Amino acid sequence: MLPVRVRFAPSPTGPFHIGGARSALFNWLYARRYGGVFIVRIEDTDLERSSRESEENILAALRWLGLDWDEGVEVGGPNGPYRQTERLELYQRCAEQLLRQKDAYRCYCTEAELAAEREALLARGALSGYSGRCRDLSPEDCARLEAEGRKPAIRFRVPDQDAIVVRDLVRGEVSFDCSDIGDFIILKSDGIPTYNFAVVVDDHSMSVSHVIRAEEHLSNTPRQILLFNALGWETPQFAHVSLILGKDRSKMSKRHGATAIEQYQEKGYLPEALVNFLALLGWSTGGEEEVFSLDELIQQFSLERVSKSPAIFDLDKLNWLNGHYIRQAPIEYITDLSIPFLEKAGYLTTPLAPERYEWLKEVVALVRKYLVCLEDLKDHVGIYFSEKVEILEDEAGEALAGSHVPALFAALERLVRDCPALSADAAKALLKAAGKEAGVKGKQIFIPVRAALTGSIEGPDLDKIMAILGKEKVAGRLAGALARDSS
Ligand code: GLU
Repeated sequence: MLPVRVRFAPSPTGPFHIGGARSALFNWLYARRYGGVFIVRIEDTDLERSSRESEENILAALRWLGLDWDEGVEVGGPNGPYRQTERLELYQRCAEQLLRQKDAYRCYCTEAELAAEREALLARGALSGYSGRCRDLSPEDCARLEAEGRKPAIRFRVPDQDAIVVRDLVRGEVSFDCSDIGDFIILKSDGIPTYNFAVVVDDHSMSVSHVIRAEEHLSNTPRQILLFNALGWETPQFAHVSLILGKDRSKMSKRHGATAIEQYQEKGYLPEALVNFLALLGWSTGGEEEVFSLDELIQQFSLERVSKSPAIFDLDKLNWLNGHYIRQAPIEYITDLSIPFLEKAGYLTTPLAPERYEWLKEVVALVRKYLVCLEDLKDHVGIYFSEKVEILEDEAGEALAGSHVPALFAALERLVRDCPALSADAAKALLKAAGKEAGVKGKQIFIPVRAALTGSIEGPDLDKIMAILGKEKVAGRLAGALARDSS
């Protein structure tokens, strides 16, 4: 087997989509699985729509997902530059080779002429194509047209052959009728290559062994194979990965969930969860398992197990995975990731003093089981940060109205104020002791105390809540609830 050299070749024309990230991941996994090279090349030949901002955004997202690259933009390598607009000379040279071989010709048709021709062809029922008007121009014709000020594009002369077969590692053999492919432009009159040409020149010059990309490019592949053949180059192996559909089986769109990776990042999805989720968009081990670390994915990924059928984007599954990773990850890691979300919600300002950080870890450890993504933190941590608690739930109000509550709270408040340090263990003992004094136990203790401290009758372990709140806040809230009760 050839050394594995794969590439991710995004066009930096907008937000980095789930589908692009999935292609990047499959290439990366394939490279890592087989000890190959992962290349990142920027296909920025659409001058109007490409931007550096979008490129930076894509690269940052790749890094965030943990998909490092061995060759490419920013990291360099022996086959650079890795931005197509910096490789124009190479495309020019290859186009000249095709011109010399008569596999390409100069085309002087203007946009307006081509548009009129397309209309005429359409009227005759032809789907697309080019009439071949410039196919056999003599050098004199060319000179005359150039004298008119026309700048030629270079068009590939599609050979007379019946069919082109794409041997695809995912889809098997797919045959395309050559007569459907008209002579196509490879280099525009401004010297910018078209996608199909640049991709072939680059995949060859970067010794790409496998082209793993989205299914939407399958129909471009016959053109690319014709170019590989004409240039006398070996074709890489192709693997076209299925479209991503929403749960209702229509094309994935904003309706089914955010489509840009950045949006998931902003909501506090973990890169581990997203990578795990993306890996399952069109690939599976065949077993039931759904949770895979990056290392496990590297060990198990194979193109044979990439499915031909569309991948279904299931946001519930992503949410479940994200919750899972939030609960399982080391607490320092989740705490560090939480800080910007808490800052944004106005609960924190950084830098944090070491004790405050330790305290924050306890808070995050306590609430993380309730989170789908880190953005949800703001709905669960208010009681630990604010001075006062609001009793919003009716049930909490009812719990505080019990006749035993004043005695219980008075005892607990005193015990809390007297205790040297309010650890969770100490809190447990104090709750019991206060209950004993007031002659109540179990729920009769926990529900009203929880209501007074959190405003709710449900939530994390009460003893841990008390330890996090600390003596002052616990005592203050018990006293506050009593005052509210008597008012
Ligand atoms: N620039 C193309 C895209 O973003 C890449 C196609 C390919 O991988 O060949 O869709």
